[in-house]
Amino acid sequence: VTVASPGLVSDLAAVVGASHVLDDPDLKAAYETDWTRRFSGAARVVVRPADTAQVAGVLRVCHAARVPIVPQGGNTGLVGGSVPRDGEVVLSLARLSELEPVDELAGELTAGAGVTLAALQAHAAERGFAFGVDLAARDSATIGGMVATNAGGIHVLRYGSMRAQVVGIEAVLADGRVVRRLPGLVKDNTGYDLPALLAGSEGTLGVVTRVRLRLVPSLPARVVAVLAVHDTAAALTVFARLRARVASLEAAEVFYAEGLELVVAHTGATRPFATAHPAYLLVECAAHADPTDDLVAALEDADVVDAAVATDRGGREQLWRLREAHTEAINAAGVPHKLDVTVPLSRLAELERRVREVVAEADARARVVLFGHLGDGNLHVNVLDVPAEDDTVDVAVLRLVADLGGSISAEHGIGTAKAAFLHLTRDDADIAVMTAIKHALDPHTLLNPGVLLASRHP
Ligand SMILES: Cc1cc2nc3c(=O)[nH]c(=O)nc-3n(C[C@H](O)[C@H](O)[C@H](O)COP(=O)(O)OP(=O)(O)OC[C@H]3O[C@@H](n4cnc5c(N)ncnc54)[C@H](O)[C@@H]3O)c2cc1C
Repeated sequence: VTVASPGLVSDLAAVVGASHVLDDPDLKAAYETDWTRRFSGAARVVVRPADTAQVAGVLRVCHAARVPIVPQGGNTGLVGGSVPRDGEVVLSLARLSELEPVDELAGELTAGAGVTLAALQAHAAERGFAFGVDLAARDSATIGGMVATNAGGIHVLRYGSMRAQVVGIEAVLADGRVVRRLPGLVKDNTGYDLPALLAGSEGTLGVVTRVRLRLVPSLPARVVAVLAVHDTAAALTVFARLRARVASLEAAEVFYAEGLELVVAHTGATRPFATAHPAYLLVECAAHADPTDDLVAALEDADVVDAAVATDRGGREQLWRLREAHTEAINAAGVPHKLDVTVPLSRLAELERRVREVVAEADARARVVLFGHLGDGNLHVNVLDVPAEDDTVDVAVLRLVADLGGSISAEHGIGTAKAAFLHLTRDDADIAVMTAIKHALDPHTLLNPGVLLASRHP
């Protein structure tokens, strides 16, 4: 058990108040294990600041004492980056939950790092706006965590990932200094783009405290279709046709027979078709006027075996649930190894086929469940029934992805889970630049040590 020194606890309590410095093991527990249960470690102490000034105060205390910190938002990250490894201080941003009024003229708003995605969506909807990033962890994932991981989700196809929504940022550096770019300027070419750099930095360069975000129009007319197809290649052909012909296309997701069975068993959901099919493509179109006719016309003569279509909210949500419940259904079936990978679209069908082969070769016990954001070339490779600490299947999958010209992280980040594999898809010069940036901003390696740049080449 890691014990915090009395001096550190009292210094932190002087900043945030004693009731927001947790050193009781029972109170710390929820902050010490990640969502997948694969990653956990002891926190020296958990600190819960209320605002930017308190975050800066906490970082000054930790900087003076050379105590490392793990920032944590909703703790829904899937690569082990949000939980302590070796007695770090966990810095919870959950209390930074202030939502400023929507700037209706600019179509923007400023949110505290601890605001959940669902709260932001509800707040924007009150003023007739939507937010460009959406994902299944919306009730817990925070804006700060989503910026830190450059989260992707189900609408990247149309609006881009989290970095594309960021207009400005406020963050606290490792020594407690605050950088603030929040005026809401759409254009501002004054030097390096620090907000863009912090997006995707996984808590290794600074602690995000507030974010200025662009909003998108709320599109009320929607249609969702689950299309049964022969295989990934057919799903890609159908997707390419829809992208070329249907301007309102907002999502294109893929899942497979084994995942649907897990979801049905876990949630009790109704199967969309009387018989099972090898692969399913879920598409959603959204517009001001009903896009159903456009979708149906574009699907005429397409290589689709069967289709389930819904336009009413309840029906749409039922179809989405088949795809979105994958993560929780897999988690309920065991402690998964999760590999979030991307390849060029032209290699995606090959990846889907070969990943099953390489996992079976690496470990005969392994059970593979695949799903993902087809339109982005992004597959989530979930492997069940292998020991949590055994990386054999991870190595096999990530090497395959590198061979296919892909990336070992599409949207979840590197965290601790993939830090040893960075060199597979980043060369020495690239890693040297990232290391130099890290040292410039955090020379004592106090922010999220072990994450992203932890290991040199194995
Ligand atoms: C059911 C489910 C579905 C998901 N679907 C998707 C998906 O479709 N697309 C996707 O991209 N991800 C998805 N995720 C992963 C996860 O939701 C995202 O990575 C999300 O961005 C994490 O937000 P969080 O607030 O939970 O961050 P955390 O898990 O708390 O932290 C994630 C990382 O960010 C750092 N961090 C957190 N807050 C801050 C801050 N304020 N400043 C600096 N660093 C910080 C942490 O140290 C850590 O390295 C899913 C997860 C679940 C459980």
